[in-house]
Amino acid sequence: MLTKVFHFDAPREKYHCDAVIVWCFDNRFQLGFSKFLKRIGVVNSDPIKIAGGAKSLASPDHATDREFVLEQIRKSIRLHGTKRAILMLHSDCGAYGGLAAFRGEAKAEAAHHRAELQRAAVALWEAFPDIEVLAYFVDFEGVWQSELTHRPAPAEATV
Ligand SMILES: [Zn+2]
Repeated sequence: MLTKVFHFDAPREKYHCDAVIVWCFDNRFQLGFSKFLKRIGVVNSDPIKIAGGAKSLASPDHATDREFVLEQIRKSIRLHGTKRAILMLHSDCGAYGGLAAFRGEAKAEAAHHRAELQRAAVALWEAFPDIEVLAYFVDFEGVWQSELTHRPAPAEATV
């Protein structure tokens, strides 16, 4: 038996997804990053909130973690026409051992996570060559966009 305990009216029409977002479930950054997403016009998103966020693409604990996330993104693309992915990493992330793993050095952490975001983007482009990728590092003071280099041309195409 199901007992109705709350009422609301949800929109029934399907939506076009502005961006699939791979971010960490760390609640400290939920409000700030949500405000930022609104600021850049992301209204209908498909959030993939998992410990470590983009770590699962860049340096997954298990290869199956990456496969799982890629499959989720594939479904977002298929179901909601998603053309853009937003990758998020943040300071003091438990999945990376926190800021302590970088001896408390915020600059070292930021540099490491910038490289991780690039690796995550490459993993995405390998699976979805045409997807637009935006990558952000979030700390306790704000959101920092990480410049990405698009994946190198296939080896056979380089001279
Ligand atoms: Zn985290």
